[in-house]
Amino acid sequence: MPARIISGKEIGAEIRAELQPEVDKLNADGRTPGLAVVLVGDDPASQVYVRMKGKACAEMGMHSETVLLPETTSEDELLATVDRLNEDTTIHGMIVQLPVPDHIDSNKVLQRIDPRKDVDGFHPVNIGKVVVGDDSGFPPATPFGVQQMLIRSGVEISGAHAVVVGRSNIVGKPVASLLMQKAKGANATVTVCHSRTKDIGEITRLADILIVAIGQPEFVKGDMVRPGAVVIDVGTNRVEDPTRERGYRLVGDVDFNAAKEVASAISPVPGGVGPMTVTMLIYNTVQAAKRWAAN
Ligand code: NDP
Repeated sequence: MPARIISGKEIGAEIRAELQPEVDKLNADGRTPGLAVVLVGDDPASQVYVRMKGKACAEMGMHSETVLLPETTSEDELLATVDRLNEDTTIHGMIVQLPVPDHIDSNKVLQRIDPRKDVDGFHPVNIGKVVVGDDSGFPPATPFGVQQMLIRSGVEISGAHAVVVGRSNIVGKPVASLLMQKAKGANATVTVCHSRTKDIGEITRLADILIVAIGQPEFVKGDMVRPGAVVIDVGTNRVEDPTRERGYRLVGDVDFNAAKEVASAISPVPGGVGPMTVTMLIYNTVQAAKRWAAN
């Protein structure tokens, strides 16, 4: 039987509907939640993500500011923008869209963001809070979204063997940290694989929950998935497709058609983790606005 589809689009819409009354209340109190998105350069994929974030804010009745800076922006100029947004009282959450151009040190920029406004959850303070299980920070939006997809689709995480493929700071490592916590919606036994892992299929086939975030189109084939496993595909890759007007289509890191015949549940690309990332960014921004309001 083909796998059940875990729709990030639907789960994201459900979470946003739950958040709406909180946004309405903040608005009524004159404390409209505000998100600033900074984009350096003109990477087409980043432009799409930035537009989606602004649109999501507008739909919720939130304030958003998009700061578009040219590719030639210096590190100091970008840091000055971050400083300005740190001081701006209409802005509760701020993200700098990655990747930034090579001449800018992304770690330096991420560390300059006030951790209380770091709704992407990339600041070491927020990463540290995830690792020690302190929920006063902001979990990174994509891993937080993955966890919510599992919880809200009724997947038993506690005691499950979760295999995470990919160990980036923004997806692999924090998703592993979130799922291994001694906490509700966690308590998984976690294995992390990466480019030096030997016999990766031997390990992915042990997964009750398989989370893939490597940026390699359709890398995980059907025979790498344990029958009955739950598969969450974080990958978002553009592959050439002359049959499409725009000349490309989006595919994940998992061979969806093959894996869906083996898995019990699977998230699609697009319509899976992508919309959840935007939703959890909105969620974190609303939490940030509530925390500022409480001060
Ligand atoms: P990175 O390039 O930062 O990290 C990739 C990770 O995958 C690395 O740990 C790398 O290993 C590992 N890896 C690469 N190739 C292989 C391989 N053949 N076998 C095993 N491991 C491998 O990527 P990100 O984490 O930023 O993103 C991963 C994917 O997720 C991308 O497609 C990206 O577009 C997507 N993404 C989607 C988001 C969404 O909202 N849907 C948000 C963020 C990312 P090593 O460390 O050894 O180099």
